[in-house]
Amino acid sequence: MTDNTGNQHQMLRFCPKCGAESFVYDNFKSFTCASCGFVFYHNAAAAVMGVLTLEDRILFARRAHDPARGKLDLPGGFVDPNETAAEAMRREIKEEMGFDLGILKYLGTAPNYYVWGGMVYPTCDIIFHAELMEMPSVLDKREISEVVLLAPDRVVPEDLAFPSNVAALELWACWQEK
Ligand SMILES: [Zn+2]
Repeated sequence: MTDNTGNQHQMLRFCPKCGAESFVYDNFKSFTCASCGFVFYHNAAAAVMGVLTLEDRILFARRAHDPARGKLDLPGGFVDPNETAAEAMRREIKEEMGFDLGILKYLGTAPNYYVWGGMVYPTCDIIFHAELMEMPSVLDKREISEVVLLAPDRVVPEDLAFPSNVAALELWACWQEK
């Protein structure tokens, strides 16, 4: 039904306002009802991603489920309503790895697509850096099968889950040079 570039066959066919089977996707960011004219916007969702370093190595989480099951991901997740990006970053790490992050440094953003339940969600990934004091000892195994520490020159792009992982590592490398 979907691929990982945002292209999708239309899943939402019925207008949530008038119920007619007349929802038309513009193949970009909105659905319009041909019957009542209602427009539903499918804008980029805010998400967070952390480049977490322990001395000179970067922490990767191996994904326990699809999308990209078995691939290495930088930890993070979606921003909840009424939450700041920094709060989302701290909450996701607390939920998935059981510890409190220290100082967060904003690195930049990168677009991504996340496929869930057959829907393609465009995201704007907000990328932070934080230094770790130690390896996480608790993992939410529903989300992460293991954590791996890799030196930057040992990272293989093909092993990464998402294009925004690559962008995040590039942003982090840029900041290292400053
Ligand atoms: Zn309608």
